[in-house]
Amino acid sequence: MGLLDNAIATAAKLVPRPIVQRIAHRYVAGETLEEALSTVSRLNVIGCTATVDLVGESIKDTAGIPATVAEYKRLLLALDSRGLRAGASVKLTALGLGLDDPFCRANLEEILDHAAEHGRFVRVDMENHPYTQTTLDMVLNVRRSHPNVGVVIQAYLRRSLGDVDRLVAEKVSVRLCKGIYNEPRHLAYKDFDLVRANYLLLLEELLGGDGYVGIATHDEYLVWHALRLLRQMGRPRDSYEFQMLLGVDEELRTMLVESGHRLRVYVPYGKDWYAYSMRRLHENPKLAGYIAKGVFRPTARPMLKLAPPAGKASTAGDIRGGSAGAQSDAHNDGALDGPIHGPSLRKFPP
Ligand SMILES: Cc1cc2nc3c(=O)[nH]c(=O)nc-3n(C[C@H](O)[C@H](O)[C@H](O)COP(=O)(O)OP(=O)(O)OC[C@H]3O[C@@H](n4cnc5c(N)ncnc54)[C@H](O)[C@@H]3O)c2cc1C
Repeated sequence: MGLLDNAIATAAKLVPRPIVQRIAHRYVAGETLEEALSTVSRLNVIGCTATVDLVGESIKDTAGIPATVAEYKRLLLALDSRGLRAGASVKLTALGLGLDDPFCRANLEEILDHAAEHGRFVRVDMENHPYTQTTLDMVLNVRRSHPNVGVVIQAYLRRSLGDVDRLVAEKVSVRLCKGIYNEPRHLAYKDFDLVRANYLLLLEELLGGDGYVGIATHDEYLVWHALRLLRQMGRPRDSYEFQMLLGVDEELRTMLVESGHRLRVYVPYGKDWYAYSMRRLHENPKLAGYIAKGVFRPTARPMLKLAPPAGKASTAGDIRGGSAGAQSDAHNDGALDGPIHGPSLRKFPP
């Protein structure tokens, strides 16, 4: 991590709310379910699927959790009734992990039951290291009765190879990402190249198994190697997908889609967009550097409507979504999504 990145991360705490609001326009669909659906619809039209995340403040008690569960159920119902190609991403701490684990599990199962009724897949995001083991254990447990759930593996964690062995053996659907939290060195690789090398090692292990693989990265070096591995290992196109965050490297996203690869976009929405945006700044100093570029460079995306924080006036415009494909998104983060083929303008090597 660079000195400049560190300085930006420190300075981020001082960033005025209207500036954070401007950052959020790029990375968050909006405050409401309707805005999230509109974004998913627009993504479907351009050949992407989505996974929708309800952003939330860190939970200090369980009082607000039933409302979170209800909102996820509303989301899953709406995705189905509008025929949108998307599932959901959830964080277990938002459902009570660490406060009341049995309650958390019951909430997760309630969401998974509802998702199954509507032919949807739910990805459980991976949080920081105190939750790694309990998250994996809980997902593997509930998966016995709910096949429409998958996990996330973080390539920076030293333990991840062992976790991947376990997940491959059970054919679990895995999203592989680098990892976003600032973990201690005895738990996580700190060297950029080592994280990349471990990502590729883990990816090769995952692709050697039979589970569905979500390749979540904007790092073109990793994308190139992923394409090389996919080709060498003869992985069918419906057995994996690339995944990217909303508002990040849309050019790379387009190249992958136009080359016929499945591409899923992570779409956060919710009233706590401010906290979500600040977490992006605080949690990963490197990301803060990218976000700073986003603040000072104009973006091609239309601005999204976000209610002004703490009563301040919004400067945002609006977003228009198109009509969507009618396939659903069930047991494998895209097993029923169908192929994503756009007109092939550019081919992405290899
Ligand atoms: C779909 C998805 C789901 C994720 N889920 C989780 C999770 O559950 N748990 C977890 O710990 N982490 C998660 N992450 C975050 C991930 O761990 C990384 O922190 C993040 O993706 C950046 O790593 P990278 O592989 O893109 O490589 P980097 O080296 O960080 O980025 C590669 C390039 O992408 C561009 N870029 C990356 N991020 C941004 C940005 N915000 N704005 C502008 N440009 C950017 C830059 O050009 C950069 O050079 C997820 C990421 C994605 C894409």
